[in-house]
Amino acid sequence: MNGAEFERDTALVTGAGSGIGKGAALRLAKGGAFVGLLGRTEDELEETLAEIRAGGGDGMVLVADVSQADQMAEAVGRLIDARKGLQIVVANAGINGTWAPIDDLKPEEFDKTIAINLRGTYLTLHHTVPFLKKTGGSIIVMSSINGTRTFTTPGATAYSATKAAQLAMVQQLALELGRHGIRINAICPGAIETEIDDNTNVRKKRQTEVPVEFPEGDIPLTGGESGTIEDIADVVAFLASDASRHVTGTPIWVDGGQSLLR
Ligand code: NAD
Repeated sequence: MNGAEFERDTALVTGAGSGIGKGAALRLAKGGAFVGLLGRTEDELEETLAEIRAGGGDGMVLVADVSQADQMAEAVGRLIDARKGLQIVVANAGINGTWAPIDDLKPEEFDKTIAINLRGTYLTLHHTVPFLKKTGGSIIVMSSINGTRTFTTPGATAYSATKAAQLAMVQQLALELGRHGIRINAICPGAIETEIDDNTNVRKKRQTEVPVEFPEGDIPLTGGESGTIEDIADVVAFLASDASRHVTGTPIWVDGGQSLLR
């Protein structure tokens, strides 16, 4: 444990069974927060909880699909019943979905990306904000460089649209929720080493890609190496903590400068 910066806090992290969500959950638990681990895959969530407990922290598993209103209401209800309050929400669950030319992208593929990434973010906030209003708190939305600074990922139209919309929600809600002492910010990661590529369906990439070549690789800070889960988790901790008490409605690009190139 490294102190108790979140000792009195309860956190909810969606998509906590792998990747960035798992890293955020471990980091918040390390700071003393009790973490509700929400996701679709129970055994992965149990594994995250086991790692948290091995590190001296605690939390609970909440199996739910972020795109389903009834499941989200039930999962948040279980966390509140167990803890009474809620101070930190990390709306992280998301998929890359299908990356394809616009005339090839099927309506059901478009809808699936919107349902999980955008409706899922809405439902996460819709069901948690009533509890955050009681004590104030911090919401962190996991957006992306795609849709906020980068528009060259081939075929990623639906994905980029959800990530742009998440940032719009953050800015809109910063004003709406400020009076309740709730801060809301977005993290926009660049390429991070996770399992998200397993959930990516890419078609006809050559029809949509824009060839751009840079002499020194496309992540200036690392010479091309992807970022790590911990690179994101430390920014989650900053935005959840009192160190960011005057920060709201703000995107933070955590990408080693990648999105400034393309
Ligand atoms: P990941 O696939 O490792 O993790 C995503 C998690 O979300 C998984 O645990 C998955 O089970 C869960 N999930 C997916 N659909 C769900 C649903 N309907 N209901 C509940 N849980 C669901 O991917 P990751 O890279 O850790 O991605 C996390 C977030 O970070 C996403 O929003 C993604 O868009 C964003 N992001 C990732 C990168 C990157 O390079 N990895 C870059 C920018 C943004």
